[in-house]
Order: sequence, then structure tokens, then C-alpha cells
Amino acid sequence: MASAATSPAVPDRNCPLCPRLADFRAQIRAREPGWYNSPVESFGDPKAQLLIVGLAPGLQGANRTGRPFTGDYAGDLLYATLLEYGFAKGVYQARPDDGLRLIDCRISNAVRCVPPQNKPLPVEIHTCRQFLIATIASMPKLRAIVALGRIAHESTLKALGLRNAAALFAHGAVHTAGHLNLYDSYHCSRYNTNTRVLTPEMFRSVFANVRADLEA
Ligand code: SF4
Repeated sequence: MASAATSPAVPDRNCPLCPRLADFRAQIRAREPGWYNSPVESFGDPKAQLLIVGLAPGLQGANRTGRPFTGDYAGDLLYATLLEYGFAKGVYQARPDDGLRLIDCRISNAVRCVPPQNKPLPVEIHTCRQFLIATIASMPKLRAIVALGRIAHESTLKALGLRNAAALFAHGAVHTAGHLNLYDSYHCSRYNTNTRVLTPEMFRSVFANVRADLEA
């Protein structure tokens, strides 16, 4: 794994390392003081075998509610799929206090702060990778990572100390990285599902594959 062993897995809530994102955070805090508006922490047990890596908090999703994929469309499909495959228990109600629990599963993001237009810059992805590295390092039983989209895939590869050329992104692909399997999926965004780039069936097949491999 790439070296960032001294970085904590959780950034400070006023993390200043990406000036553009810190400025954007300050703007949204002024406009929406009731929202979370801070780096979004990972959700789920560090002893889980499965880690899901998304891109970044959605403005009105995780950035508003403070829990990854909670409160926007991407969460509807993700949590429904996790419930179906036994990686979550409870009822997803798009609120961090809905009581939903992840089972043997954890969710994080390649970039912890909401970026304008959902588009982090390469330098921001690079800077925030230290927290992804620390998150992965904090999971002693980790066996499977699902990367949602190309950016999450590439940042996860780098976090694992691997070169992109060795494992190109493709929906449904499974790459071996030491004792881990890295599963690729198109991101479960509203845009991808509305355009049928990603269907619920395509998304489900990724998690069916993970479930089968974890039980093999
Ligand atoms: S994206 Fe990550 S590194 Fe950048 S300011 Fe937010 S928490 Fe810090």
C-alpha cells in the first residue's frame, strides 16, 4: 500500500488542505447553516470485509446529511442494493438517524469534501488520498473493495500502491491486489441510471459477485 501511515483516517472538520474545497465549504456553510458542510467520515465498521469507495459527497446528499450516500438518488440505489445482498440491515430512510446498519461493509469516498459541480480536481483527489489510504489501513479484515466510477477506481489503485495500467477501469471488472479483490462499477448516480449507462441489474450483479466471493 502507498505510504501515508501517519495520516489519521478522519480529516479535521475544517481541513484546509484543498483551498478551493475549503472556500466552497465556507460558502455553503454561510448559505445553509443547518447542513453538515464538513468532510464526510466513513460509515460502517472498520472490521468489515467490504469497503465501498465513492467519488465525493453530493451537495444535497452526504454534504447535507453527514452520512455517505444519504439523502440523494445515488443512496437510494446503493442502500437498496446493500440491503438486498445482506450488507445492510434496517430501512433506509435517507436520514443519518434512520437506524440503518451496515453489515460487514463500510462506505467511504475518494474525496471527503463536496466539490463544485461534483467534480474534484486531480490535485484534490491526490491530496485527499491520504485519508483513503489511512481508511484502508484501518481495516484489518478487508478483502473486497467496490470502486464506484473511474476516479474512485484510480484513486483506490494508487492508495494500494498499484499502477493504473495494470488494472484498467471497466464496469464489472475484478482486479486482484494482493489479498484484496477490487471490483469496478459505474457510479450509481442519477445521471448514469437515467442514461442507462448503469441499470439496477448491472449494479446488483457487482454486489452479487462480491457476496459470492466473500462466501466462497
Ligand atoms: S477533500 Fe480531503 S484533503 Fe481536501 S480539504 Fe477535504 S478532507 Fe481535506
